[in-house]
Amino acid sequence: MDPPAEVRAWCQAARRPCVLSGAGMSAESGVPTFRDTPRSLWARFDPATLATPEAYERDPALVWAWYQWRTHLVRRAQPNEGHVALARWARSRPELRIVTQNVDDLHERAGSPEVIHLHGSLFAARCVACGRPPSQPLASLGDDGPPPLRLPPPTCAACGGLLRPGVVWFGEALPPGPWQAALDAVTRCDLLLVVGTSGLVHPAASLPAQALARGVPVVEINPQPTPLSPLASRVWRTTAAVGLPQLLPD
Ligand code: NAD
Ligand code: ZN
Repeated sequence: MDPPAEVRAWCQAARRPCVLSGAGMSAESGVPTFRDTPRSLWARFDPATLATPEAYERDPALVWAWYQWRTHLVRRAQPNEGHVALARWARSRPELRIVTQNVDDLHERAGSPEVIHLHGSLFAARCVACGRPPSQPLASLGDDGPPPLRLPPPTCAACGGLLRPGVVWFGEALPPGPWQAALDAVTRCDLLLVVGTSGLVHPAASLPAQALARGVPVVEINPQPTPLSPLASRVWRTTAAVGLPQLLPD
């Protein structure tokens, strides 16, 4: 399927493009999404038991093990052609901004500078008590055997508090710096590509409406319909790794 000609022309002409990416961006790298398929993380686990501050208080070892397993999956994954095409586009568009809801590092590993992480990172553990990062690199899971169901979190060398994953959990506020950077990016952009997000998690899901309100074209790239689809300027039903390399100029 060819990319819509008009969308290609918008991508050629854009000087300050912005990309909002979600879990679908990394699906073809083998990182499971949250909602859309039976393989998705939330189809097999209940988010209420794993991705909330209450869940961590109740059972830190269960939550820590689950995040260690996700970190392990991401470490083994490689950026896909979609991540690579965005990084290439950024070289000719220094003002391109990538705003991601992903907690992986695949945009960075593909070479994209300026990645704004709205929901934190799997690689930014911190102490629940004093907020410090670990003093030494954390051990990672091995490749053999099934992932452990429980793993006590390491403790902080400075204060003895437990370490927690550096991600934003349900019910937590977004980190103010990245949220402001995302608002700035959406306020300045001349084209917004929305790639691989179900558009259900707020406030990230409110960003496309802000671009639309300014009359900026918003293009959805997603194999499935989302709540954004009827509002977007154009929709291309394709995947990140197939669509982006065809769409973006070198
Ligand atoms: P989601 O799981 O709710 O939705 C994924 C979306 O991607 C769906 O609309 C689906 O149709 C689409 N999709 C699936 N495969 C695709 C592909 N190959 N190309 C393009 N689109 C594809 O994900 P979301 O909207 O990002 O949900 C938000 C939450 O998910 C965030 O909090 C984020 O932290 C978390 N999450 C992150 C990762 C990651 O870091 N890789 C993985 C899973 C979940
Ligand atoms: Zn501490």
